[in-house]
Amino acid sequence: MQLPNQGSSFGVREIACPACGHHVAVDFFDGGDQALATIAWPATRQATRAMPRLPLDFVRCVECGHVYNAAFDYAAVPYSDKPNLMFNRGMIWKGFIGQIIDKIAARLDLRAEMFEPARHLPELLPDIVISRHVLEHLMNPLGFLQTLSFVAACHDQRPLAYFEVPCIDRAIETRRTVDFYYEHSSQFTTESFTRMLARSAVMVEELGHGYQGEVVYALVRLGHASSQVAHATTAAAFRTAADRSRETIIDQIASLHRSGRPVAFWGGTGKSAAFMQRCGVDAERFPIVVDSDPAKVGTFVPGTGQEIRFRDWLIEHPVAVVVVPPQWRAGDIAAEMAAHGITAHSVLIEHDGRLVDYHRDPLPYRCSP
Ligand SMILES: [Zn+2]
Repeated sequence: MQLPNQGSSFGVREIACPACGHHVAVDFFDGGDQALATIAWPATRQATRAMPRLPLDFVRCVECGHVYNAAFDYAAVPYSDKPNLMFNRGMIWKGFIGQIIDKIAARLDLRAEMFEPARHLPELLPDIVISRHVLEHLMNPLGFLQTLSFVAACHDQRPLAYFEVPCIDRAIETRRTVDFYYEHSSQFTTESFTRMLARSAVMVEELGHGYQGEVVYALVRLGHASSQVAHATTAAAFRTAADRSRETIIDQIASLHRSGRPVAFWGGTGKSAAFMQRCGVDAERFPIVVDSDPAKVGTFVPGTGQEIRFRDWLIEHPVAVVVVPPQWRAGDIAAEMAAHGITAHSVLIEHDGRLVDYHRDPLPYRCSP
C-alpha cells in the first residue's frame, strides 16, 4: 500500500493492539532474529551460541501509535527461570525513582503483600497498586488493566494505582532501534499508554514523564466501571433465570408427555431447534414437528432428529397442543392456524421462564401489526 503524502509503501496487518485493542497495524521495524537480550545470560560462550533466535517483527498500531512485536510468544521468555534484573543504581535514574517514591509515599501507608486482583482486592483493600516496568512485558496489558479495574468496581473499591513503562516517543523521533528486543514485545508511546488507560475504566489523576522522557507514568483511580458492573449483574441474573426456566420447562414438557395428549412443535430450525435441544424435546416422546416453510419439509430438526412436516399435516392429524418456540412469530402462526383450519386445544409459548397459553394468558407477544 502507498502512503499518499510520502510515497513510501507499508504493509497492513490485521492484529489486535495490546494497548488499545484496535485491529489495524503497519510494519514498523524488522529486527531479524535475535537471542533474548536481558532475561537469559548464559555462563559459557558455547551456551550463548546455542541460544534460540527469536523473531523481532515490530508493527505499529495505526490508532494509538503503540509499537509491538507481532511475532512475540510469551512462552519463549523464561521469566520463571531467570529474574528480569533492572539496573537501578545509575545516578539520574536513582533520582527519578526517588522522586516517584516520595510522590507515592506522600499518599499512603505502604503495606507489602503478594497481590492477585480477583482474590486480593477484596481481601486486602489496598490503598495503592504499583506496577513499574511490567505492563510492557504482558501479552495483553489492556486486558490486565481492564480486569483490575473491573474487579475493583465489583467490590466497590477505588484504590489508587501507579503504572510506569518505558516510553519510545524519543526512540521513534531519533530513529533509535536498540529498544526493540524480544523481551520488550510491547512498546508504549505517550499516546498508546494514554489510550490504554482511557479504555481501562480508570480515572487518570496524573500523567507524566521521567528520566528525560524515557518513561511515562500515570497515577490513576481504579474501579470507574459502574456500567460494567451493571452488565455483569444483569448477566448473572439472566444466567440464574435461564437455568431455572430450563428446569421448569423440562418439567412442563414431561407432564405434557405424561398427559398422553398429542403435541406438535411448530418450527424445525433456528430458534425452534435451539429450544428443542436445550429443553430435551426428543424425537421419541415428541415426534411431531411442523413448519410454515415448505422448503424445510422433509429435512430434520438439528440435534433432535424429528422429520419436519408441512403445517397442513395438522389439518388431517389434529393435535391437542401446539408449542411455538419462536415467541415473536406466535401472532403470525396463530393467524396461519386460523386461516388454514388448524385447531388445537392450546397454543403454548415460552414466556418469563415457563410455557404459557398464548390465547389465555396475558402476553406481550399478542399484538396487532
Ligand atoms: Zn493501539
